[in-house]
Amino acid sequence: MTDCLFCQIAAGEIPSTKVMENDRYFAFRDINPQAPTHVLAIPKQHVASLNQTADPTLVGELVLFARDVAREEGLADAGYRVVINTNAGAGQTVFHIHAHVLGGRSMRWPPG
Ligand code: 5GP
Ligand code: ZN
Repeated sequence: MTDCLFCQIAAGEIPSTKVMENDRYFAFRDINPQAPTHVLAIPKQHVASLNQTADPTLVGELVLFARDVAREEGLADAGYRVVINTNAGAGQTVFHIHAHVLGGRSMRWPPG
């Protein structure tokens, strides 16, 4: 999708701070971090939100890719949070599915 911000970031057309990449997934630092480590993990394929996919491979690989990002960022032992905001009520502002990987501080529950 040419008018999608995260498709353009994954394609390198809009700059970002890359953390990890493979042939199907891309991870980069959030521009407005909510924790000392805040990385966004996305599929290179455009999917608007979790509501728009029934592909267990894509969803499973995205979560495992987010797990690998957390591991690479040194968060695995202390703990981290993987969040997929879905639609406006949950705070989704960019309609290309993404997993937030948050860590480096203690997290409260329930989230706001
Ligand atoms: P959402 O609110 O949709 O779950 O998350 C979108 C995230 O994308 C937000 O945390 C926001 O800070 C981040 N974001 C929005 N625009 C950009 C951008 O141009 N570059 C980067 N690196 N992050 C962005
Ligand atoms: Zn997209």
